[in-house]
Amino acid sequence: MFSELAVYESGLKHWVSIRQTGQYPSNESAGEEPIIFHQPPNCVLEWSTSIESGICMANVCEDWVPESFWRKAYNLSSGEGYRLTAWEQTDMLMEPFGITLKDLFDANMIAQYNFHGHYFSDGKDLDDILHFRCIPADEYWGGGVVDEMRRMAANPMIRAMFPTAEQMKEHNIEIGHKEGGTYWALENNKEDWIKAFFGSREKRDAIKSWDEGYELFHPSEEVTYLDHGYDEEKGLENLDIEDLKKAAAFRGGECLEEKAPADIYTPPIKWKCADGHEFMMSVNAVLQGGHWCPECLAHECSMEISQK
Ligand SMILES: [Zn+2]
Repeated sequence: MFSELAVYESGLKHWVSIRQTGQYPSNESAGEEPIIFHQPPNCVLEWSTSIESGICMANVCEDWVPESFWRKAYNLSSGEGYRLTAWEQTDMLMEPFGITLKDLFDANMIAQYNFHGHYFSDGKDLDDILHFRCIPADEYWGGGVVDEMRRMAANPMIRAMFPTAEQMKEHNIEIGHKEGGTYWALENNKEDWIKAFFGSREKRDAIKSWDEGYELFHPSEEVTYLDHGYDEEKGLENLDIEDLKKAAAFRGGECLEEKAPADIYTPPIKWKCADGHEFMMSVNAVLQGGHWCPECLAHECSMEISQK
């Protein structure tokens, strides 16, 4: 977030931030990190394929990209067909081996909150400009990825070498004991982490096991928009000071200016967050980028994938 903010506030005229939650296939080493315990079973990722992400990046460099494209952040995905919950994805990929998410994890050891996955209501905006989507989801998953798993499962040599569900679960538990894993947090009384993962120890203790009826579902895809406190139809360039004050109030803070700036990009203007921190930030960074108080952000939990 700080890196993106630095670009927002750079004064450069030609930059873009392309955000994606999950690119498939992922870096293989990610499966060996505690992040495998961080995605709640019913939490979704709207995946982008590595091929389409690559086309997107290549097209950014083309001359036909319109001037209006720049100085914004966009969500990147391969489309609505790529919306999968954690359990749907695991069950789909492992189906040829007869393995499901339930075989690989205990329900009460998977985080319930604070993963970054969700659907994008505006994923199409980026494709409308850069035209990178080219693989229908059912062909990609069913025809490509799952088909390969089926061929592997049908090969007796691979089948013999492939770990059993029990072995995979045991290995996952080892990973969960690494720093940042749920086992690590519970066994080492990392209360901040426990709160972030489960809400509280009590809530964690109340999680039903799979057999007791832990509910797996696919969250509704019906789009509902938040009211951000101001008229978003106006366009950022046309907001007046009342709009900015209402936008800040929506975030529990204030806009401390007397009038709206002439330029939404620079210079930054003064805001105050709910905790009373005053900070300078451009209208574009706050309202297009969704950035807010840097001091509060510094206290949020962030974790690097460890290289150990
Ligand atoms: Zn703050």
